[in-house]
Amino acid sequence: MKIETKCLHEGYKPENGGPGVMPIVQSTTYRFDSTAKIASLFDMPTECIYSRFANPTCDAVEKKIASLEGGVGAMLTSSGQAASLLSILNLCSAGDSFIAASTIYGGTINLFGVTLKKLGIECIWADAEASEEEVQKLFKPNTKAVFGETLANPALTVFDIEKWANIAHKNNVPLIVDNTFATPVLCRPIEWGADIVIHSTTKYMDGHAVQGGGVIVDGGKFDWAASGKFPDFTEPDESYHGVVYTREFGAMAYIIKARMQLMRDFGCYPAAHSAFLLNLGLETLPVRMRQYCENALTVAKFLESSDKIASVRYPALPGNEHYERAQKYLPMGTSGVMSIDIKGGRAPAMKFMDSLKLACNEVHVADIRTCVLHPASETHRQLTDEQLVAAGIEPGMVRISVGLENVEDIIADLKQALDTLD
Ligand SMILES: *Cc1c(COP(=O)(O)O)cnc(C)c1O
Repeated sequence: MKIETKCLHEGYKPENGGPGVMPIVQSTTYRFDSTAKIASLFDMPTECIYSRFANPTCDAVEKKIASLEGGVGAMLTSSGQAASLLSILNLCSAGDSFIAASTIYGGTINLFGVTLKKLGIECIWADAEASEEEVQKLFKPNTKAVFGETLANPALTVFDIEKWANIAHKNNVPLIVDNTFATPVLCRPIEWGADIVIHSTTKYMDGHAVQGGGVIVDGGKFDWAASGKFPDFTEPDESYHGVVYTREFGAMAYIIKARMQLMRDFGCYPAAHSAFLLNLGLETLPVRMRQYCENALTVAKFLESSDKIASVRYPALPGNEHYERAQKYLPMGTSGVMSIDIKGGRAPAMKFMDSLKLACNEVHVADIRTCVLHPASETHRQLTDEQLVAAGIEPGMVRISVGLENVEDIIADLKQALDTLD
């Protein structure tokens, strides 16, 4: 099936006479007719037993997203942050390290650099454009993963997935890619060698700004046993009656271990109702992504022609530093998100934003409505100037998330706001 078809038909298969739309299973518990049956489910979790780590509505959405990304399994989480966190904790313990590209989402930078550090896990920052030799020098014997973002939020750079997958695999560790902005409609990192894909589903996947969530997808190709670096996968888990994940679950070892150890213990699982809303967003995702790309390219070309703007960053715009790479990894387009650098820096950037009438000033991105945000004073205000530069953020940068309004209305609004600047 092609992706448009999968978005509508994967995950939930109505039974004869059953509801045509995946129902919300609003129950925390499930009844079984014997103790032995429940006992067997603790051995082999093939059915839902408790809402802290499984639910049939969530399960259907997990299967759909796994299929969209070309993975073997997926696990929803209650936020994108929870997905990033668990994707790393499933591989790293105190005393371990992992490498992350420095051009990633500000919330992830803080999670990796501050909070994981307190847990004894070191994040080694890498320049996403560093050569293979330079990156190789960053690896330590305790390095367990590599992490990057397909389309960096808000730097809008394109991550060279193939290059990073090769480096990771040479060092016997998996590559994790945050594919939030691209969505599987525009790019499927697993096809380029990534092993694990994560998303903040709060963004395009939900698409309507109605509920937050995240997901982790397991590509199923990484050989945990051959790597020799992951005893938690290949030796008995005493907290789970001695199960050996690679032996018991094969290609799904990573995602089942994430559920049975981490979701069981942390419980950051979404509610069935959230999964239901997420599914509605997924059903129309391909149509929406196509229109976002079309609107954004038109807007980017308009903004490029303004003398109030120093630069427009949108990788699908000819002349962008990553244009060629974007054509390779994201041939349909690079989403609705772009960033512009307003001449004069912070003050004119804020004046421009305050003059907008249609585009909303909000802490969100990838919304169905056009919205703007000032990273330096809002989402990324916790970063030092040095980190801002490393994350590709200037004080005058405005991130514009082009929505699905008629593009002529969007441009008229941006134009009148630019006209207020001298
Ligand atoms: C928003 C975002 C996150 C965090 O997701 P939440 O749902 O807000 O927790 C992670 N990565 C990227 C690229 C994001 O844009």
